[in-house]
Amino acid sequence: MTHFRTIVCLTVLLGICTAPGLFAAERQRKLQRDYNVTPVPFSRVHVDDGFWTPRLETSRRVTIPYAFEKCEETGRIGNFEKAAGLKEGKHEGASFNDSDVYKIMEGAAYSLQVHPDRQMRDYLDRLIRVVGAGQWEDGYLFTFYSLPERQPEKRWTNIPWVHEQYCAGHMYEAAAAHYEVTGERTFLEIARKNADLVCRVFNPEGRTDPPGHQEIEIGLCKLYRTTGDEKYLKQAKFFLDQRGRKGRRGPDGNGGLYGTYGQDHIPVVEQTEAVGHSVRAAYQYTGMADVAALTGNMDYVRAIDTIWNDVVTKKLYVPGGIGAAGGHEGFGGPYELPNMTAYCETCASIANVLWNHRMFLMHADAKYIDVLERTMHNAVLSGISLEGDRFFYPNVLEAVAQHGRSPWFGCACCPSNVARFIPSVPGFAYAVKDGEVYVNLFLGSDVTMDAAGNKVRLVQETRYPWEGRVKIAVEPEHPGEFAVNVRIPGWARNRPVPSDLYSFLKEEPGKASLTVNGKPVPLQIEKGYARLERTWKQGDTIELDLPMPVRRVISHDKVTSNRGKVALQRGPVVYCLEGPDNGGTVLDLVIPDEAELSTRFEPDLLGGVVTIRGEAETAKRTLDGRIVPDTKRRFTAIPYYARAHRGGGQMTVWPGRVPEGARPKPADTLTYLSNTTASFVHVSLDAIKDQNVPATSADSSSLQLDFWPHKGTTEWVQFEWDKPHKLSSVKVYWFDDTGRGECRLPGSWRVLYRDADGQFQPIKNRGPYPVEKDTFNQVEFAPATTTAIKLEIELQEKWSAGIQEVVIE
Ligand SMILES: [Zn+2]
Repeated sequence: MTHFRTIVCLTVLLGICTAPGLFAAERQRKLQRDYNVTPVPFSRVHVDDGFWTPRLETSRRVTIPYAFEKCEETGRIGNFEKAAGLKEGKHEGASFNDSDVYKIMEGAAYSLQVHPDRQMRDYLDRLIRVVGAGQWEDGYLFTFYSLPERQPEKRWTNIPWVHEQYCAGHMYEAAAAHYEVTGERTFLEIARKNADLVCRVFNPEGRTDPPGHQEIEIGLCKLYRTTGDEKYLKQAKFFLDQRGRKGRRGPDGNGGLYGTYGQDHIPVVEQTEAVGHSVRAAYQYTGMADVAALTGNMDYVRAIDTIWNDVVTKKLYVPGGIGAAGGHEGFGGPYELPNMTAYCETCASIANVLWNHRMFLMHADAKYIDVLERTMHNAVLSGISLEGDRFFYPNVLEAVAQHGRSPWFGCACCPSNVARFIPSVPGFAYAVKDGEVYVNLFLGSDVTMDAAGNKVRLVQETRYPWEGRVKIAVEPEHPGEFAVNVRIPGWARNRPVPSDLYSFLKEEPGKASLTVNGKPVPLQIEKGYARLERTWKQGDTIELDLPMPVRRVISHDKVTSNRGKVALQRGPVVYCLEGPDNGGTVLDLVIPDEAELSTRFEPDLLGGVVTIRGEAETAKRTLDGRIVPDTKRRFTAIPYYARAHRGGGQMTVWPGRVPEGARPKPADTLTYLSNTTASFVHVSLDAIKDQNVPATSADSSSLQLDFWPHKGTTEWVQFEWDKPHKLSSVKVYWFDDTGRGECRLPGSWRVLYRDADGQFQPIKNRGPYPVEKDTFNQVEFAPATTTAIKLEIELQEKWSAGIQEVVIE
């Protein structure tokens, strides 16, 4: 493909795109009903900001071109070329790969609007022609069933997993964005033709099974907004209302429910808890918000209000991510927020931002922006590297050996989602309702909006998120009376989240303060906003001061994984400790409540960040099993989003607050002090002697050594000492991930010791070798004085095996 990176300096301003912001606003149709609040489109928000400008530039110069390149390399774009008859061959990759291309096209359209770029525009135009050439006469467009030849009998036959409608939803979003930016109808007509087919196939008289992966609901609402054709809005509602409804007509005449995984267990209006796959879920709630706003359906509003409370009080990670479990990529139970195995898929964080923005547009309450800001600054940004071309899919909160970011994924939903998300960020900053202006996000920007029959220009200057001072010049075209609502973030009001899930350890007396033209204004906060109503005129200035001390965050006591732990937050930024700043290890660190913390801005570190430093203690286990403070150590914390840029090592968002809350250094037992080796290592060899006894054999939070993907083999683990010890017992806690993986209890095992001649001999056991789950399996033997013990493990045929913990005495 054309390599944008080589031509960035030659970017040409296209005449036809010089006033793009106006186009978009004018193309937004006035609908009969809509959200109570009108967002100011990102294209009207001209960003000049120390934090966001580099990210928007990186997205345009690196992420979007890079993602297109990857789609070429991996056959995603080739699939469209083959479907268009430009190439021969089979379909490559996953059935839903078309969606990645559409998402990047959406991001490219957004980027073009703010920064016209002929090369990108030409590329997009060519891609649209290719996509359109692969569309069937009746509107069907999905390369998976087009290659190597069209297979009309297969389409719509595997709705739960193949994701035709998920791809279509992303196509509609991209097409709507392209039309808004360019005014050209090419892509929009392709999308309409496809949506018309979807409407003909899925309706009360036809098929009544809903999509397997929600997204088309959002896309259909965008098509409705763009075209004004109500049929698309009705279709979005139709799909939502089929969820959880028994007696549907599916491909075989019988549409069985997909269960909680797909939020298809009960009708959407009866749903009260966030369950199942978290991206599906949050797209559903976003689609419900859109349909509710556009139709006035209060049952939808009640349902998503209740579900939102469930998420914010029980299922939200401190960086704002959602999804506790990898197995179903989704929500765990109430307060189930494990750190090391956290899922927090980048797509789910993006979906959480989209959903919370809609909730704000519906209710005009800043609590939704509090969640949005937390998620955007921490969980979403964690998903993309500072350079813009490395990604995380799950975003853990704790790692024993942090693995690096990936250049791409076989399932590339996350990178392509980031590619469309970053350019849209300025669109969350401002809004208008009933002639009142809302300032939601703090970023250097220049925006003009229509409010109270006036053209109101706001010029915002700030060094947020590193400093809490924000200056907003208010410049109405002519003097006028209206209100400016300035968000006072929850974190500046001793409320990190709008629930009791997290709280600050100490109330902070330093309060937010506001002046208008230098005169203090008493803060009267309504729904999270300081409402400044007066006659505004050119030259008026609002100055907001949000003190930014480091705050210690603690969890609700029911979050067992965070007991005895503390997180650090400053402004909206959540921090982590990672190996490179802390001598490699951080999991054993304890930051006592009284430890002094200092901050400094480091312009050359990780793109310029404020770091937090202080003195911590390490935690150590004693031989009698207590956990006590050991040595003192300086520590450095960095913003969570900036992690994993400097190699591996440990990482944690939640260090200990007391020794019991940390992962202590093991006691100096014989097992721990041994030199340990194994025939093969998957996950962690150290885990078998870290003295963390798992809750069950399936517990992966305490890590294990396993031999996967070896199956049916004989494996060994050896423990060696410098001098001989008299030993008489070995205990093994086996790992077994039935239901998730391929490790099972071993077929059999035995213990050998090294004799005086250096040969390994079987120990003389005093009983059988037990092989049981969820407990230690102990074998006692005639005491042997030796310098080495070896465990020999026979894996069951066709299965692998693993060890949680070993104790040799
Ligand atoms: Zn994803």
